[in-house]
Amino acid sequence: MGQVKIEAAEVTRVLQELVAIPSVNPAFEGGCGETGVAEYVKRYLTGQGIPFLEQPVQPGRSNIIGMLPGGLSGSALLLEAHMDTVQATEMTIDPYAAAVIDGRLYGRGACDTKGSLAAMLVAMAALKRSGLPLPVGVHLAAVVDEEYRYTGVSRLAAAIRAGELSYCGAVVGEPTGLHRVTAHKGCVRFYIDVLGKPGHSSEPDTGINAIEQMAEVIRYLKEKIAPAYALQEHPLTGAPTHCISEITGGAAPNTIPGSCRITIDRRTVPGEEPLEVWLGFKEKLRELERQIPELQLTVQEPFIIDYALDISGSHPLVRQLGAAVAVYAEGRLEQGAAYGTDASKLARVNVPSVVFGPGNISQAHTENEWVSVQEVVSAASALAGLVLHYRRDGI
Ligand SMILES: [Zn+2]
Repeated sequence: MGQVKIEAAEVTRVLQELVAIPSVNPAFEGGCGETGVAEYVKRYLTGQGIPFLEQPVQPGRSNIIGMLPGGLSGSALLLEAHMDTVQATEMTIDPYAAAVIDGRLYGRGACDTKGSLAAMLVAMAALKRSGLPLPVGVHLAAVVDEEYRYTGVSRLAAAIRAGELSYCGAVVGEPTGLHRVTAHKGCVRFYIDVLGKPGHSSEPDTGINAIEQMAEVIRYLKEKIAPAYALQEHPLTGAPTHCISEITGGAAPNTIPGSCRITIDRRTVPGEEPLEVWLGFKEKLRELERQIPELQLTVQEPFIIDYALDISGSHPLVRQLGAAVAVYAEGRLEQGAAYGTDASKLARVNVPSVVFGPGNISQAHTENEWVSVQEVVSAASALAGLVLHYRRDGI
């Protein structure tokens, strides 16, 4: 079986060009959207003679899906990476200069996740140019809106659910340091509101202080709910957690607060159903309501639900990716992650998915974000190798 040559110079050029195009998610400060990067991906694919389809997600925001045919029949392999980045404010380097210093390419999105996108684009181009017959078709989906609402991958998943697209497996590009992330956490986020009874704060006993009541709720969550998380330890992701991530309350310095709200960011582990987790909060807090008769508490419906990911390490996709990576990088393992990715949304529509890409998650979203160029080249080589040697029945 042949080999596909990945040129470091081409990888560097493509990544520099991607980083130079701002694609801050519109939800964040300075958010310009992904249009520039989507146009670049279309131009690049067209230049390589690779057909693509455009999948509108929101006005002016589209997923781009490049397609290489292969195999005699059956579904294709999916390479997926998001085009949006977080905001570039508060960076200490020029976010769009894409400077290369000592083998590191600097800029917003270099690590999360334009390194992965560049690796996938160059791998697709190299496969196409090789002229080799591919054992499996391969699609590259460059999607919008991973950093905020996951609408890009949700649109892609809807097309898969409708049977418009069909995949035997997916590699989702995120900075995993070329390790294979086979499990990650999900989350459920919701508000808890407490209502008090306002009054003049010079006579605190005349009202009901919603902030003081919320303090009881917070203490209860810490003492009665959090300790049980240790019993749910998952071997790759660790135990569930919750974080009280926001609090608001009170109306004025001289008024007994009549309301208080906290935000719960509860991270779930594989096997947990987010809605059941939320229901669990509701039920457990009823006990506190019984203890404090005047407590007026509402556990609001979740405003964000995201599922955890869990794919078996013995799945043919994971094993073949491991073999492909081992040719170019040593000591890469199966790992779990605390963060969420597009992979769990693809897994929900029955596409076995693994997270893989160049760069370290600790470099993502930072003030001097960078990625090792050599790691991006290795990722491109491994992805091309994975496709070229892919066997549906595994190794
Ligand atoms: Zn990312």
